[in-house]
Amino acid sequence: MDDISALAKRRGFIYPGSEIYGGIAGFWDYGPLGVELKNNIKRAWWRQMVYEREDVVGMDAAIIMNPKVWEASGHTSSFTDPLVECKICHKRFRSDKPEQLAAHEKDHNEPVEWTQPKKFNLLTEVLLGATEPKMTAYLRGEITQGVFVNFRNVVDSTRVKVPFGIAQIGKAFRNEITPGNFTFRSREFEQMELEYFVKPDEKTAAELFEYWKQERMRWYVSLGMTKDSLRFRDHESDERVFYAKFATDIEYNAPFGWSEFEGIHHRGDWDLSRHKLTYADPETGETYKPWVIETSGGVDRAALFFLIDAYREDGKRVILGLHPKLAPVKAAVFPLVANKPDIVDKARAVYGLLKKRFVAGWDDRGNIGKRYLAQDEIGTPWCVTIDYDTLKDDSVTVRDRDTTKQERVNIDQLIHYMEEKYEK
Ligand code: ATP
Repeated sequence: MDDISALAKRRGFIYPGSEIYGGIAGFWDYGPLGVELKNNIKRAWWRQMVYEREDVVGMDAAIIMNPKVWEASGHTSSFTDPLVECKICHKRFRSDKPEQLAAHEKDHNEPVEWTQPKKFNLLTEVLLGATEPKMTAYLRGEITQGVFVNFRNVVDSTRVKVPFGIAQIGKAFRNEITPGNFTFRSREFEQMELEYFVKPDEKTAAELFEYWKQERMRWYVSLGMTKDSLRFRDHESDERVFYAKFATDIEYNAPFGWSEFEGIHHRGDWDLSRHKLTYADPETGETYKPWVIETSGGVDRAALFFLIDAYREDGKRVILGLHPKLAPVKAAVFPLVANKPDIVDKARAVYGLLKKRFVAGWDDRGNIGKRYLAQDEIGTPWCVTIDYDTLKDDSVTVRDRDTTKQERVNIDQLIHYMEEKYEK
């Protein structure tokens, strides 16, 4: 973990939030490479969940909603974590995370007496308006509710018919008591979610639940996550959140243990009932409350686990073996020498060509070996070197991050060469 967070900071993936003022627990800033990684994850998700399907539309709801939304959804009363306090040092911990309690006992080197668990609400309050009394609203604790409250709007303004889904990506906020494990538990984070509406029927819902479980797992594997480091974990009935009929987590075998980063939930008609919304079948006229199968992933947790999964060391080399679709920089361009204008000009022309298609990098410092190392560490799949031969035959050396093999490729074939591998 320390290697990952050090690399993330050194190379511009992730910085501690507000660092020059001493930081702020649970908030992180994404640097130039981090924003690319996160955008690539979101883009790949949107492509698969919206563009490649005929039964899903997207939307983007506001972060702050009328507080009545959270009363109706049950979050003001039930969106809680059970907290206990250590009677020695008065620090608070979640009583449903026994590993945290055990770790704390170890810190004290003696058995700890805990207070009775107390419920703590995770919604973050905000005050709106210029005059007193100000209106208390909430930063959304999950992006989900923005979809439900717009259910009728989407049905009325598009041609969707049950079964159909609404996809959304956006920020959520939780007043987490114990933020930690780098970005894993943050107070501000991004979610990518699908709410899929089906006609109430146990069999259909069970089939779709299974379908979406497999789809979501397949997606992570298709983007390079190691299969053996992933598993499903079904929720026991006593740990299911208040709205879920059944629920499964996708977990990653992180350095801090198996950890959830996506949940698949059968929410039944909980939400539409609470918001008093129904659906009228346009063909039969039948009115009912659709059930919801939800897939709820964390963009930040996915980014963290893609980074952890991709990290490897080979002697002095540190390599981020990110899937080319996720790699922040797809190709880096090197003029063999920085003091020969012909070579530099040619290299700049190649750089200009690649930049039009995807994020490309430029490096003309030091020897080529060092430049390779610098690119391996940020996961750049291809390095392109322009040398003396390029001036004669318009071909360049393309070096592959994973095999370290080099190939001569003609400049006019370069984009095609990469795209072929990139789209695989
Ligand atoms: P946990 O048990 O870890 O608190 P949760 O079960 O409350 O998570 P959900 O409410 O199911 O999580 O949220 C769906 C997804 O949103 C999670 O799988 C995770 O990827 C992401 N997520 C939730 N809380 C956080 C957080 N504090 N920081 C980063 N991501 C989060």
